[in-house]
Amino acid sequence: NSLLQIKNLHVKLANAEEYILNGINLNVKQGEIHAIMGPNGSGKSTLSKVIAGHNLYKVVKGEIRFEEKNLLDYTIEDRANLGIFLAFQYPLEIAGVNNIDFLRLAYNSKLKFNQTNPVDPLKFLEIVYPKLKLIGLDESFLHRKVNEGFSGGEKKKNEILQMALLDSKLAILDETDSGLDIDALKDISNAIKSILKMSQFKQSIIIITHYQRILNYIQPDYIHVMYKGKIIKTGDASLANQLESRGYEWIASE
Ligand code: ADP
Ligand code: MG
Ligand code: MG
Repeated sequence: NSLLQIKNLHVKLANAEEYILNGINLNVKQGEIHAIMGPNGSGKSTLSKVIAGHNLYKVVKGEIRFEEKNLLDYTIEDRANLGIFLAFQYPLEIAGVNNIDFLRLAYNSKLKFNQTNPVDPLKFLEIVYPKLKLIGLDESFLHRKVNEGFSGGEKKKNEILQMALLDSKLAILDETDSGLDIDALKDISNAIKSILKMSQFKQSIIIITHYQRILNYIQPDYIHVMYKGKIIKTGDASLANQLESRGYEWIASE
């Protein structure tokens, strides 16, 4: 019983000829950690956006199921409400919004989807504080404007905070480790691990990364190598070492 089940997925841009995804198959069970690696332009980010529901892309063939539901029938918002988390790309319009108000809106949207009453701002603070602490963020962080003046590390921590708050069933972390120094990477990895422990159910994660190093902190159950819109190899955590020393081309030529 898979949480996420992707079968023979073919995707292109709405008005393009060429496929970006060329027959992806992927099964993620509850509690599993999957890493997706692969060269630039192989389609990793496209896959994550298609799962999340960005309408830029057209699914031409294949299917995506989440807890047996046909995800393609759901909007991007409702996929988030079903429990799929992809770190938000903030639209410019909301740049002036306080972080805490933004987080509460997202939180309440999910409650509403599940026919539960929204929480008021005070109650919400009680929910946020422990998670903030766990991630090692200062309270003042909540009262800053979304996306204004966050350092690279803070932005990533904020993504993890969102993931924690929404208590998603499946989190997709697309290059969450990019541009982080060693200390920040360690902090983020520990934050993710704490969130996993604190979660009310076993969350699944898809980590998209170019670098082996985050996988030293967060051990994946599976590593998939994506190449030209396909998963061309799947292995266990040890595959990361091979990729680090040998690159991707040897797999492509196999
Ligand atoms: P990766 O994340 O593995 O680096 P992407 O999914 O970002 O790869 O991109 C895969 C391919 O699809 C690339 O050739 C990229 O240029 C193309 N592509 C993806 N999204 C778009 C887009 N919105 N417009 C034009 N080309 C795109
Ligand atoms: Mg890329
Ligand atoms: Mg990418």
